[in-house]
Amino acid sequence: MIQLISTRQEWLSIRRQISGSLGLVPTMGNLHQGHLSLIERALQENDHILVTIFVNPKQFGPNEDFERYPRTLEKDIDLIKSLERKKDQKVFVFAPSSMTEVYPENFSSVIQVKGLTEKLCGLTRPGHFDGVTTVVYQLFQLAQAQQAYFGQKDFQQFKVIEKMVKDLALPVTVHCCPIVRDDQGLALSSRNQYLTNEQKEVALILSRHLRLIASSLKEKKNTGPLIAEMLEKSDTQLTWEYLEILDAHNLEELNKSTETAVVLGALKVGSTRLIDNLLVPLNGEYIVR
Ligand code: AMP
Repeated sequence: MIQLISTRQEWLSIRRQISGSLGLVPTMGNLHQGHLSLIERALQENDHILVTIFVNPKQFGPNEDFERYPRTLEKDIDLIKSLERKKDQKVFVFAPSSMTEVYPENFSSVIQVKGLTEKLCGLTRPGHFDGVTTVVYQLFQLAQAQQAYFGQKDFQQFKVIEKMVKDLALPVTVHCCPIVRDDQGLALSSRNQYLTNEQKEVALILSRHLRLIASSLKEKKNTGPLIAEMLEKSDTQLTWEYLEILDAHNLEELNKSTETAVVLGALKVGSTRLIDNLLVPLNGEYIVR
């Protein structure tokens, strides 16, 4: 059974009647295989699930794509319907009919995680992560789910949410699910559809560079000059925002006991901003230069 819900009141009264475990998958809709992989995992690991579809204005900057962000609710619901479910498993889709269903009238609170949000995407998208943590906090409160599923695609976002859960002792376990890519290696994203075919070719440089940096790191080479050379090659159709290697545990610099590194990149192809990352196990064998 799939049930579409559009108001918080309706959801709250349904929530009271759900017994068994609930898994939450927050999304902004326009679902693709990346989202569906999260939903499938939630279906496997929970009695029932809640998928939220909400384009959250608080996480968009004034010159970003909030207005033109693709909204495709009917198609999204058909995709969710097509997924296999266990017998008697309930799937709820909460697609709020208005902002006040998520942020009640005169809402003026902000959930902010310091530190982790002040690097990488936080530098070029001021306020973005405050918008993310504020909406995810609201969704956690509404859902009262035991587990919640996020994509590694937005790795910094996951780390920020993980930190919020820990700091505020929220009663939910958060899971980070692998990145789903197309057959050329481009990480799936709702924003890929803004790209022309030519730009899609250009965009492949992101995953390609991440792979090159990851292999260089695995071979214990000094990656500094390689990254510097890659970053130099910005032009009018392609602008790098960052390419960095950090400790995947805390997004701090690598050190000799780092277990897993993460290579993260962000670039703009035309006006479309893309992000991607790769995890690289180092098992505490990183050579500090
Ligand atoms: P969004 O709708 O873009 O807010 O994404 C909703 C969730 O789907 C987030 O936790 C994303 O990290 C995750 N997600 C988006 N793209 C992918 C992908 N290509 N692979 C895996 N997860 C993804």
